[in-house]
Amino acid sequence: MASAFVPIAALPEDPEGDDSWLFARGSEVLLVDDKWEGPRPLSTPEAQLITNHVAQPLVLGRFEDETAHWWTGQLSGDFDVAAAPIDGLILTDLRCMIGTLAPEVWNVAGRATQIADWFRDHQFCGRCGARNGMDPSERAMRCPVDGLTVYPRLSPAVIVLVEHPDGRALLASNVAWAGPNPMYSTLAGFVEPGESLEDCIHREIQEEVGVSVTDLRYFDSQPWPFPNSLMLGFFATYTEGELTPAPGEIADAHWFARDALPTIPPRASIARALIDDWISR
Ligand SMILES: [Zn+2]
Repeated sequence: MASAFVPIAALPEDPEGDDSWLFARGSEVLLVDDKWEGPRPLSTPEAQLITNHVAQPLVLGRFEDETAHWWTGQLSGDFDVAAAPIDGLILTDLRCMIGTLAPEVWNVAGRATQIADWFRDHQFCGRCGARNGMDPSERAMRCPVDGLTVYPRLSPAVIVLVEHPDGRALLASNVAWAGPNPMYSTLAGFVEPGESLEDCIHREIQEEVGVSVTDLRYFDSQPWPFPNSLMLGFFATYTEGELTPAPGEIADAHWFARDALPTIPPRASIARALIDDWISR
């Protein structure tokens, strides 16, 4: 198990030679595809070759048992990977790196894309339009005129595997996954302001498939930086109602037995972890 990541908001004096760099542009991260070891973050000497294409270096933190820091920064829109003076450089969507990067590095890369985006998008106060300043002591952008403070945004979302008392599980296919062999997954939805996680689960399942559930059991959570979700996984038990997929959102929903599963989400997703846990019981 990798050690915990300790976030740091204030910039250290200077980057050190053994620091790691994960420059970002939207959901893409800049990596060096090492022929032998696979994709890896940039080293400090490599990062220094392209700093004129980065808005501002931002420190993310370090692993508890290491002294080296991890950094990010927003790559400029016109940065050209092919023209950069670093061999094996790739700019790739973080979704494609699930299972390729080590899980703890993938999570730091998710921090990197979110912090770089947040910094780019909050250069000015949303209330009065003055230029924001970075808070020196915490991860915040603050307006010098009216004090409005903006923290990186997280959007909690519930993701739920509904179990039927007869042993089957409810999986649904989103309209966006239409095709000859569509994927079926657990139900998910964003928490609304004013809702508890439990309120959200009841509402989402009612809205998406028209059934009621009870016996909510927390399972696990997963940061999902597309763009800034935190997925909170639960099990629930079906009580009543006829499966009625929401038009325009759910293409199909069924009760599936363990030995007759459709195409399910890839490993490393919390949806798959919920399904695998249910299968194993
Ligand atoms: Zn302001």
